[in-house]
Amino acid sequence: MLLGNLRKDICQYSQKMLIDKLVVGPFGNISAREGDMITITPSGMDYEDLEPEDIVVLDLGGRSIEGDLKPSSELAMHTYIYEARPDIQAIVHTHSTYATALACLGRGIPVFHYVVVLLGGAIPLARYATYGTKALAENVLNALGKTHKVAILENHGAIAVDKTVKEAYQSAVVLEHVAEIYLKAQAIGEPTILSPHQIEEVKRQFKSYGQAKPKS
Ligand code: 13P
Ligand code: ZN
Repeated sequence: MLLGNLRKDICQYSQKMLIDKLVVGPFGNISAREGDMITITPSGMDYEDLEPEDIVVLDLGGRSIEGDLKPSSELAMHTYIYEARPDIQAIVHTHSTYATALACLGRGIPVFHYVVVLLGGAIPLARYATYGTKALAENVLNALGKTHKVAILENHGAIAVDKTVKEAYQSAVVLEHVAEIYLKAQAIGEPTILSPHQIEEVKRQFKSYGQAKPKS
């Protein structure tokens, strides 16, 4: 099976995405790339039933290489990002509740909490376009730019991009966490925003965050 490990990862994280309530039903999608090939969840399938063989393999032009199922309707959104961002090898698209509530208000998230810095700074809003279209793919790419790890999709949901499915998934979870805090804080007042100086200090501090070596 081509890209076997990535297809197993995608299957596992698709099911986790449902359990963690970042999506309901068949919505959302996950992909990863290796070299010139990408592998992506099939369209409109129940995640509970997914098996690694169901994850579709295509080239970057969207031509099928392996797998019988129709790929995600958001294939263009994924391929546009891979074409434009050589640093990105995995994409997680969710309809998580709090991020999507902000999406429906047409709002991104400012740096009101230091963790937002880890997601690439103030979280951009990708302008609305019909799901599954090239127009949406372009709007999402514009919002992500060259550095953002996440974006909110107006009247739709959220996206997270990174080097591995695990890392992109983690950013999708962190995005949902900060979206929830932001909405709850806003119910009471206007959250304060970190200054450019405070943001620079957080960036410096994050350089040495966590373990220098992974646990062996
Ligand atoms: P797919 O099931 O085709 O991946 O579409 C779900 C979705 O979230 C569309 O934006
Ligand atoms: Zn969607």
